[in-house]
Amino acid sequence: MRLHESGVREIAAGIRAKKFSALEVFEDCLARTTACEGKISALITTAADEGRQQARRIDERLAGGENPGPLAGVPVMLKDNICTRGVRTTAGSRILGDWAPPYDATVWALLREAGAVLLGKTNMDEFAMGNTCGTSAFGPTANPWDVTRVPGGSSGGSAAAVAAGYVPFALGSDTGGSIRQPASYCGICGLKPTYGMVSRYGLIAYGSSLDQIGPFTRNVEDLALVMRILARQDSKDSTSTCGTRGECFSELRGDIKGKRVALVRDFRDFTLDPGIAEAMKRTIAALESAGAEMVEVSLPTVGRYAVACYYAIAASEAHTNLARFDGVRYGYTVSSSAGLKDMFQEVRSHGFGAEVKSRIIAGTCLTEPVRSEQYYVAATRVRSLIAKEFAEAFENADCILQPVTPSLAPEIGEVDDDAMKGYESDLYTLPINMAGLPGYSFFTGGYDAESGLPVGLQLVGPRWSDGELLNTGLALEKILGAPVIAKAGI
Ligand code: GLN
Repeated sequence: MRLHESGVREIAAGIRAKKFSALEVFEDCLARTTACEGKISALITTAADEGRQQARRIDERLAGGENPGPLAGVPVMLKDNICTRGVRTTAGSRILGDWAPPYDATVWALLREAGAVLLGKTNMDEFAMGNTCGTSAFGPTANPWDVTRVPGGSSGGSAAAVAAGYVPFALGSDTGGSIRQPASYCGICGLKPTYGMVSRYGLIAYGSSLDQIGPFTRNVEDLALVMRILARQDSKDSTSTCGTRGECFSELRGDIKGKRVALVRDFRDFTLDPGIAEAMKRTIAALESAGAEMVEVSLPTVGRYAVACYYAIAASEAHTNLARFDGVRYGYTVSSSAGLKDMFQEVRSHGFGAEVKSRIIAGTCLTEPVRSEQYYVAATRVRSLIAKEFAEAFENADCILQPVTPSLAPEIGEVDDDAMKGYESDLYTLPINMAGLPGYSFFTGGYDAESGLPVGLQLVGPRWSDGELLNTGLALEKILGAPVIAKAGI
């Protein structure tokens, strides 16, 4: 097996045991990346020089008898809205096209301290708004299972990179599905942790009350290992509330005997692609064979109002968060000789793409004093109802099994021409962010009979049940099989 095909634990153990060096792993992953990039375009920036230096340093520390950490020498890619000191961080936008942050996001500081090595920054929908990677100012990314299709979004570059075997893990961010949906389209594992589990310090904000960083891997135990490092209380983020809850990732038993797994009654009438409906049946059979009990719950408000309310809240928060990009403090700017107002207008007109502008305009309207009670405030009330509905459902169930999306990865360009179609396809993911819950997106071991695309599903649990979701994930992975590397068109 080639080094780039190995998982996080195998690479870390091999380097520690001196079976191979961190530099050898780095070069093999870089070679795979270079071979595939022409077809996939998963990256905005390759950090070859920085990464090589970090890998050499790990090898030196090991040679000197030091323990460089649990991820020593494991290459990683980060979504390009995660700040990396001195390495360009664009959020997929022209407005930050050449911005190099002066500080590191907490997640990157934690990974680096644990020995991980940065190989690149991945493509994404501009400011994480979208679900195809198609709103990126840097062009689209392709799905490694079929290069005519999207990898999903907004963290599509990270998902494609892991699926194609560039790196054994990558980070993304999820505001309404942006980790779980691309993980599902690309046939890998992705976790959107409980809100507050992972620090958002250094994540370029989209919807601050919804955003959460999480990992992509090719097996569930790697996901737990990465989460053991990321799930830390952070004094730099006032919404970081995990305390010692990161301990939930320490041991995955893979035992789900007697666990109550729910199906959502209200989702029964929604149409699903045949490949996804078939995967639901196979996964239910696997859960039952492992001793789980299938039950039913009802989420009527979620099914009816979540999409509209999410987009109202997300746009309102986005318009506030994106007000800081004015050409004065960050990135793209023009000469201010025409006066400040003209300068703001020109910078924002040229710096932002169409989808981002439409969200800023929507958010501005929805939060205007005369309208905010009717729209923004109303949406936040429905949000509370949604959270309550989930809490009630979890009185009778330990977790919920549900689709990630109603259909499989669309053709490149298909959704970008019809924004509403994209918004509606977030129906199964965005309620989870509204309620602050964890969602685990996993490969079901099956491929759609017609398109050959991998099929994923999602487990959702109560707040802080992330470790239990992965535990159920392990039971399923043992029966259904773990993700495999996609050919990536080469
Ligand atoms: N598609 C959703 C949106 O555009 C979710 C994106 C995300 O999770 N970042 O808002």
